[in-house]
Amino acid sequence: MKTKAAKSKFIFVTGGVVSSLGKGIAASSVGAILESRGLKVNVVKMDPYINVDPGTMNPLEHGEVFVTDDGAETDLDLGHYERFTTAKLTRDNNFTTGRIYNEVITKERRGDYLGATVQVIPHITNEIKDRVLRNATADVVIVEVGGTTGDIEGLPFLEAIRQLKTDLGAQNTLFIHLTLVPHIKTAGEIKTKPTQHSVKELLSIGIQPDILLCRTEKELSTDVKRKIALFCNVAENCVISATDVGNIYEVPLNFHREGLDDRIIEKLNIWTRQPDLSAWENLVKKTQSSTHKIVLGMVGKYMALKESYKSLNEAISHAALANDCKVEIRYIDPEEIAKPGADVKGAFQGVSALIVPGGFGERGTEGKMVGIRYARENKIPYLGICLGMQLACIEFARNACGIEGAQSAEFQENSKYAIIHYMHGQTSDMAKGGTMRLGAYPCKLSSGSLSAKLYGKSEISERHRHRLEFNNSFREQLESKGLKITGTSPDGNLVEIVELKDHPFFIGVQFHPEFLSRPMTSHPLFKGLISAALSVKK
Ligand code: GLN
Repeated sequence: MKTKAAKSKFIFVTGGVVSSLGKGIAASSVGAILESRGLKVNVVKMDPYINVDPGTMNPLEHGEVFVTDDGAETDLDLGHYERFTTAKLTRDNNFTTGRIYNEVITKERRGDYLGATVQVIPHITNEIKDRVLRNATADVVIVEVGGTTGDIEGLPFLEAIRQLKTDLGAQNTLFIHLTLVPHIKTAGEIKTKPTQHSVKELLSIGIQPDILLCRTEKELSTDVKRKIALFCNVAENCVISATDVGNIYEVPLNFHREGLDDRIIEKLNIWTRQPDLSAWENLVKKTQSSTHKIVLGMVGKYMALKESYKSLNEAISHAALANDCKVEIRYIDPEEIAKPGADVKGAFQGVSALIVPGGFGERGTEGKMVGIRYARENKIPYLGICLGMQLACIEFARNACGIEGAQSAEFQENSKYAIIHYMHGQTSDMAKGGTMRLGAYPCKLSSGSLSAKLYGKSEISERHRHRLEFNNSFREQLESKGLKITGTSPDGNLVEIVELKDHPFFIGVQFHPEFLSRPMTSHPLFKGLISAALSVKK
C-alpha cells in the first residue's frame, strides 16, 4: 500500500489491563501539552465495535453521543479532545470497525478489488491506515485506539498501527500505552505485574511501547519506575506516573511535571518552543479557590451512568468556574415527582436552577414537565436543552394556554395538539442511523432578548441532534400567553430558542449548547444560568 510520506508525526495511544483508565483524557492531555509548546495537533479515535457510529447506542450503554460541527455522531472522547485542544474535529476523526467493514464491503461489491480475496490483512488494515492518514493535517496526530489490549475486536487496529510504524518510519511514530499500577491495600504494595502482562500482550503483536503512562493512586517511586522500565523494555524516564486527580484539568499539568512532553518531542525529533501552561495552571487554581456553592437540579433519564451527560456536566463545571462558585448537581428522578401527591417542593428544596437535558422516548417526560412547571411558576432559573425545550413548550401549552392534550408527536403520533411535531423530511419509522437533523446550524437572535444579551451577538451557530421541532401552527397561541420566540433559523421558520415573559431566566433551546463549552471559555447560556441562580439565592 502506498503511504505518502505525511509530514505529520503520529502518536498512538493504547490502553491495557482494564477499561475506564481515562485513555481519552490521557490522549487529550497529550494534545494539550503539545499545543502548549506551539504545536498544531489533531486527535483521532478508532473504536473497535461494529456499530457504524455510536448514534444508535443507548447512552447508558456507551455514554453520551458527541456531535461535531459537520454533523457526525461520535464517541464521547471527541468531546474531551475538543475541550482540551483547539483541534477542529470532523467526521474523519472517529471511525469504527463497522464503518471500516462497510467501506470495504462496498468497494468489494463495486469491483474495486476484482480478482482478489478480500481479507483482514491487507484490506481491512489498509482501510484503517487510509483513514488514519486522512487526518495528517497537523504537526502531531494523536490516535487513540478504543478498547483494551487483548480484546479480539481490537486486533486489526493494532496490526494497522504496527504497520504504520514501518510505513512512516520510527522517527515519525510513537506508541504510548496507558496501564494500571494498582496499590494492594492489605499488602501495602504497588503491583507492576498487570503492566508487565499488558506490555507482553502488545509485544506479541509486534508493538513495543515507547512510553508508559501508569495510572496510580500515588506517584510511582524511582524503584517502581526502574522495575517497570526493566521488565517492559522502556527507558526509565519514559515510565510516567498518571496519578489520580480530583479534577481532570490537572492531568496536562501532571504529565508535564513528569516530563512527558519533553520525552515526546525528543523521541519524535521535533523542535518546539518552551511550553506555556499558564492557562491550565490558572484554571486549576480557580477550581481550588471558589468558596460559595449552589445546588442545580437536573431532571433527566440517563442518570445511572455519569458518562451519559458528559459534555453537559463539563459545561456546568466550566460555568461554575466562570462564576467562581461550586455547583452541586442534584438528580431529581422524573418518575418519582410524576407520582400523584409527590412532594415536588421537597424535591426542589434548596435548588436554585434547573436543567432538563436532551433525551429520547416518552419515559420520564411527565415528571420532567412537573419539574419545568415548578421552575416556571416559582421563578427558578431554567435551561431546557433539546427535549428540555420541547417539553417546556408542551408544559406551557397545557398549563398556561389551556391546551390540555398538548403533546409531542414523538409520544403520540396522531395528536391533534402536537405542539412538537416531526420536522420536514423526518418520520417516526425511518432508518435510525445518522438521519436526524445533525450538526451546526445558524440561528438568528431577537434583539433585546435574554439570549441576545447573553451571547452578546445577533447570530450564533450551535449543534443539533433531533428529529422533531416546534409546530408553527401553535406559535401565535403560545406567544399570546407570554412565550417568546427569541431564536429562529435565519429564514424564521424553525424555532430554535424560546423564553418566557415575566421570568428572570427561562430559556429552552432546540440545540445542544453543551458541545461548545470549553474550560477556559464557558458557554454563555450555562454561565448565565449559574449567574442567575446565584442572584436568586442571594
Ligand atoms: N427526541 C427529541 C427529538 O428527536 C429530542 C432530541 C434531543 O433531546 N436530542 O427531537
